Amino acid sequence: MFLFTNKASTKLSSSSLCLFFLVSLSKPKGVLACSIALSLHVGCKSRLVSLIINPIDPMAHTITTLCTQCGDCVPQCPKDAIKNNDGELWIDPTLCDDCQDNDNAPQCVTICSTNHPPTPLKAKKGRYKATQKEILSPNLFMNGKSNAFASSIAVWEACNVLAQRQSLPWKPDSQGKLCYERQVNGGRGTIKFRLADPLDSNAPAFDSEAAHAELTKWDVRAACLHLIFAAHAIALERPWEEEFTISDRQLETYLGLEKRKDLSKLAKLTLIKELVQQPCKLQMDISWFQQGRVPSFALEQSRLWHLLEIRPHLQADETGSKHLTGLTFKIRAGAWSKYFLNRQGARTSTAFYQYSSLPQSLLRTVFSSWQQHDGACRMLLWLLFKTKMGNEQRLTVPTLMRIAYGENRVLQASLQREERKRLLRSFESDLEVLQHYGLKPVFDPVTYPSDIQPLWVKLADLPDDAEAALEFWINDGSNQNRLTDAAPRNKWNRLMQARFLCFELPTGWEAQATQSAKKKLRKAQRKETTQQQSDRVAALSGQQITAARKNLQLSQRDLANYIGKSQSWVRDIESGRLQVSSKDQQLLLKVLGGTPSAR
Ligand code: SF4
Ligand code: SF4
Repeated sequence: MFLFTNKASTKLSSSSLCLFFLVSLSKPKGVLACSIALSLHVGCKSRLVSLIINPIDPMAHTITTLCTQCGDCVPQCPKDAIKNNDGELWIDPTLCDDCQDNDNAPQCVTICSTNHPPTPLKAKKGRYKATQKEILSPNLFMNGKSNAFASSIAVWEACNVLAQRQSLPWKPDSQGKLCYERQVNGGRGTIKFRLADPLDSNAPAFDSEAAHAELTKWDVRAACLHLIFAAHAIALERPWEEEFTISDRQLETYLGLEKRKDLSKLAKLTLIKELVQQPCKLQMDISWFQQGRVPSFALEQSRLWHLLEIRPHLQADETGSKHLTGLTFKIRAGAWSKYFLNRQGARTSTAFYQYSSLPQSLLRTVFSSWQQHDGACRMLLWLLFKTKMGNEQRLTVPTLMRIAYGENRVLQASLQREERKRLLRSFESDLEVLQHYGLKPVFDPVTYPSDIQPLWVKLADLPDDAEAALEFWINDGSNQNRLTDAAPRNKWNRLMQARFLCFELPTGWEAQATQSAKKKLRKAQRKETTQQQSDRVAALSGQQITAARKNLQLSQRDLANYIGKSQSWVRDIESGRLQVSSKDQQLLLKVLGGTPSAR
């Protein structure tokens, strides 16, 4: 009943109510989950909801200001939670678990011979004041929307590893270390990943068992931290030599955690600390081939990110207990950045400097959807890089499914009916999450026709008005294929051949496509000769526009982005369906006029 006690419940959409009703009927156990989802949907701040969703903060002890600093308790702690901070011992509450694994009392209390042993940490009263003294790196997302970030293949592959984790085919290498290897550019280059201690850059990789155990603890949100690091690194001239410093408060803001009133400060700090460390555990081997003037190179056991320091910020209360009030992280990009994020090297064409635009909304969507829609988050992160390559990229359903759920699950689904049904449900629901985010899938009408498209696509045309909706359903009932009909028996096999034409991009992402189109155009235009530039004529026919565009190796979408028109406008003028105004002719001549085909 608590669902309907707040004002926001009046804003429930008919589809949400429908969902609630259906789940309630078919799955009694689903009622609670559905109630929680709907409560969140309508912004319910119920304490009950927050208790169910968020685990209670871990117990912790604290060393008081009365401690003699003898250090006897340090080696006794099974969690290595007793740390030295500027010469003073303190207990890291993000590590201390109150010795839960031991039947005995907390080890630090047992060993302490004074009258003031560590005491249980009580919740801090009052506000958490900002006590960071370090100079932090400049804030990201200053325009409130997006920020440049390093987007080279090394960053993309690492993002995939962090997002897809155990779904990837990890295998032990010749030394027994768990390794994931990816070939790039038709096998001309390789990137290998292993896992190692984040706080010791020279530490050897974990063995198979430890690495497997580590991977089970990871979740997709760590990929967001990796992207944030890539955004900070791009602000540096020589990122492989310079470090950046970020605080928990900056990260909270980027990720939308500052609005999470249901999480305590300690829970947020524990979460941020854990997520920051995950990308820093990745160790890479890169073997790269010569590309133009950029020479081949090889890196071995090189860190993706060096975690140089985690600095705690503490405040003592009136009882002498020390509270953790903040964290700052000092991080430096690995040696990969010397080859893929080298501004000076790119000027002399001896290195790459590859960047793109990171929408802040993506980070926040991953942080709000990761529990229910892990597959959607994986697709979102993968598409961030994939769409940079232009909308003409082939996007098949099996490819997206493998990204979202892993090769093994797709294989299992092709063999088992129940698994197939589950996977299809997840896939269609995850696609809907992308659609809500703004990444609208455009289905290929030939290979992905409406009878195998998700139901939510077909219901998009359902009118809100009750009378119009009734008419909609009456008309649907008289159709040969009704919306409520069961999916065709061969739906799975047909989906394995189906593809998307493209994904329509939300606002923050369009800039990215435009930049890519502009870059492509500039490259093509550099090839023009002076002679060709002098051959301009006053007007272009549809055929000439097509020929000139193709000569510059531009897609219709690239040209549309460049001149600020829609793709359908370009299609229409090329086919002759639309007459080009003199103003637009000028624009087209400016862009295409220098090519021989445009004469
Ligand atoms: S209570 Fe246990 S885990 Fe916590 S600091 Fe003391 S010895 Fe370490
Ligand atoms: S808590 Fe007790 S054992 Fe630990 S350093 Fe302080 S006085 Fe020594």
